[in-house]
Amino acid sequence: MNTEGTQEAQQAQDAPRTVVVIGGGQAAGWVVKTLRKEGFDGRLVMIADESHLPYERPPLSKAVLSGDADIDTVRIVKPDEFAALNVEAWQPDCATKIDRAARVVTTCTGREVQYDRLVIATGGAARRLPASVAKTAHITYLRTLDEAVALGERLRASQRVLVVGGGWIGLEVAATARKLGVEATVVEGAPRLCARSLPPLVSGFLLDLHRANGVDVRLNAALVSLEDHPEDAGRVRATFADGSTLDADFAVAGIGLAPHTALAESAGLAVADGIVVDEFGATADPNVFACGDVANHPNAWLKRRVRLESWANAQNQAIAAAKAVLGVKVPYAEIPWFWSDQYDVNLQILGDLPADAELAVRGSLEEKRATLFFVQEDNLRGVIAINAARDLKLARKWMSQGRVVDLSTLTDTSKALA
Ligand code: NAP
Repeated sequence: MNTEGTQEAQQAQDAPRTVVVIGGGQAAGWVVKTLRKEGFDGRLVMIADESHLPYERPPLSKAVLSGDADIDTVRIVKPDEFAALNVEAWQPDCATKIDRAARVVTTCTGREVQYDRLVIATGGAARRLPASVAKTAHITYLRTLDEAVALGERLRASQRVLVVGGGWIGLEVAATARKLGVEATVVEGAPRLCARSLPPLVSGFLLDLHRANGVDVRLNAALVSLEDHPEDAGRVRATFADGSTLDADFAVAGIGLAPHTALAESAGLAVADGIVVDEFGATADPNVFACGDVANHPNAWLKRRVRLESWANAQNQAIAAAKAVLGVKVPYAEIPWFWSDQYDVNLQILGDLPADAELAVRGSLEEKRATLFFVQEDNLRGVIAINAARDLKLARKWMSQGRVVDLSTLTDTSKALA
């Protein structure tokens, strides 16, 4: 047999016959879709704790809450398309153990499956307030479709909601509440909104935006307890470190995401703020891959390891990982991108926002149309676009091309960017 023939024979021998995917979210959905698209015709098992088919999360804190979207609009595959993928969907079920030596996954219903390749796309759960703080049942969280539907119903039947956390969930929930005519208070422990992902200028912009829309935003607010209202057990009372109190019909907390890494950790896989993978989604075990919110990958643009919690990452890292499962090695090397919609504002973030970068502002934050360019040594490292999607699209092209930029051109609104 010639060398080519030997390679082909080896590849055929190595080709997986059974792929198991743990998780049923957006990343898991893209893994199963991609595996089939790339021609995988072996056994495909998806183990997921929710009964819904894979769906996208961005509408959960917006259109699903307001009642403008339902399951049919958020699914990433229609039921008949999913049926055509020929996936054994073990739902609802949950993986409890990975035996990497035997290549067996065990589930909480006692089922077992042996894999040739395993993809962990377990995402994460909404962080909970400690029981010492939250002493009421009138507190909700938002991560799943069912939670979004329940929260939407409750919101639409309420007059005042208390939102704990001034991050993306908190702000989008507050904006939706105001759209529904519900009074909203946002309490944030930090001195500014979205402090981990935004520079102070844009945190200030969001603060003004929410206050202008009637949200009572309280920064540096140290919540010490959340209890049933003493005179009305159907409502909630929050108490803060300074002794002040605040009453509401109910509370919703958006205080971050805890990645589901325990399963990987107990299987002896490396975990450091997420399951450690390479640019192909591969762990150190050649048969095990991870992708989406739970995976920590070396990001080519940021030049550091990162765990990204974004729609784009859930989709595109999953596609790269699924290809790698089949031996097709296409590195996941996209510029991180994220967006949020609040009131009449579409805000998009692309790339890196180094604190020491030169900042060029095009347009006007007051007029709610501005693009912030973050430049280091004439290189565009990142962009925040406020109602300026076209600028962001152009910036993405320049960044991909490594184009040198001139700050004065960027800020001159008399000249169109090209
Ligand atoms: P997040 O964006 O990390 O924001 C959580 C916020 O809550 C932070 O500002 C945090 O402050 C604050 N916080 C934490 N503990 C608190 C406490 N006890 N009292 C008051 N504030 C507290 O997380 P998230 O909003 O919960 O969102 C969860 C995930 O969903 C994230 O991955 C997010 O990106 C994603 N998401 C995305 C979108 C979108 O793509 N548009 C929309 C919604 C959600 P510290 O930073 O100081 O801890």
